[in-house]
Amino acid sequence: MILALLLACSRPSPQPSPQPTVVLISWDTTRADALSSYADVRSWRPQEPDLGPSTPTADGLAARGTRFQWALAHAPTTLSSHSSVMSGRDSHGHRVVRNGYPLPADLPLLAERFAAAGWDTIAVVGASTLEAGMGLNRGFRLYDDQVGTRVRARYEDRADRVNERVFAAVDKGVARPLFLFVHYFDPHSPWDSASPEVRQKFPQAGPAEPGPLVEKAVAGTLSDEEARAARAAYLAEVAWTDQQTGLLLDGLRKRRLLDDSLVVLFSDHGEALDDPGSWPYGHGLDADLPALHVPLIIAGSGRFAAPVGVDARPARLLDLGSTVLARVGLPGALGEGQDLFARTEALPSFAEATKPDAQERTDAWNNLPFDRSVVDEGHLLRVTPLRGQSRLSRLGDSAVVDPERTERLRAKLEAWDAAAPGFREVELEEETRKALEALGYVEGG
Ligand SMILES: [Zn+2]
Repeated sequence: MILALLLACSRPSPQPSPQPTVVLISWDTTRADALSSYADVRSWRPQEPDLGPSTPTADGLAARGTRFQWALAHAPTTLSSHSSVMSGRDSHGHRVVRNGYPLPADLPLLAERFAAAGWDTIAVVGASTLEAGMGLNRGFRLYDDQVGTRVRARYEDRADRVNERVFAAVDKGVARPLFLFVHYFDPHSPWDSASPEVRQKFPQAGPAEPGPLVEKAVAGTLSDEEARAARAAYLAEVAWTDQQTGLLLDGLRKRRLLDDSLVVLFSDHGEALDDPGSWPYGHGLDADLPALHVPLIIAGSGRFAAPVGVDARPARLLDLGSTVLARVGLPGALGEGQDLFARTEALPSFAEATKPDAQERTDAWNNLPFDRSVVDEGHLLRVTPLRGQSRLSRLGDSAVVDPERTERLRAKLEAWDAAAPGFREVELEEETRKALEALGYVEGG
């Protein structure tokens, strides 16, 4: 044993591989408890053992990496939340009001950091909500937003088509090291992406379109059967996205792109189903856990091997960029983020809803009247100014009465709001804006 240790010590330390890869994978609209590996925080009610998630790819990543049990988004909409990941700032920091508001050009972005360090940078996105005109393309050599299928007010691609586009991009030739961002939109409604093979694992799955259930859920007339059918249809979409993520990783592995790699899986926001206290079957109006609590898994291989285990502290999506940079040895934080593996304390995580936009402020930051929340001290304080309500709960648990803590968290939330930017007018070029409004998509997603 001692000899082996001596031999090990006398070996030269391994040289950095010249060909590492970072793969950042976003599953849009995926609540944390839609993954089997997040069974410890599942909030399906009642607990139904025959209606569970099926996410073996994500679970495999969690088994060989770190699963952040309480990862939190800062806004329940696609562009704002992805902007937090890519800029290291929450919505007050990056000033993206909601979908359709391009990311300001003065914010340094994650892909720019990789590009400046000599990495190749490729993105393939699954929905027009993240089209290049929204500004997340900065720093990417190739930003493929050529989503082909019109779905209601948006253009989007199914995950299998996204994979085809990824492999086409990669097979044209990549330089190394490589930063690859892949965005799957399938868990977003309508729930019609899953292949028949995946969907048959969810025999209770109901209609793809949850819209008709909203009125019933609000009126309290939603039946248990309808709620189960909706949950199953949603979980089938997540299972399908998981399967396609497995095929993505298989394809990258075959191309020898994952030998030294860091794979990060996250979601931009969750989805309210029949959760009490949230506007049902959607996201955007609520700054509560069904919309904000997302999966975050970081798994490495080769010299990027990540610690194995569960981190139970709240983790902010704005920390993701700094964490990835630190893991691969690129110096400096991104925006206000901190390295989740090196932190000594969990900082407060702030969030705000982005609707109903008809009631936005026009004399101050647009989103100030909307639902907002802070997670700190193991608790969530949710404040709804339009209704004059607030609610304190233990994270993932029931409401609690604790006036002192409520006041402490409220003061933090008010300080966050006091430092919010001013009113922001949408800055789309007129032609683009008209086209988007005609599609109804400026408010969608
Ligand atoms: Zn989204």
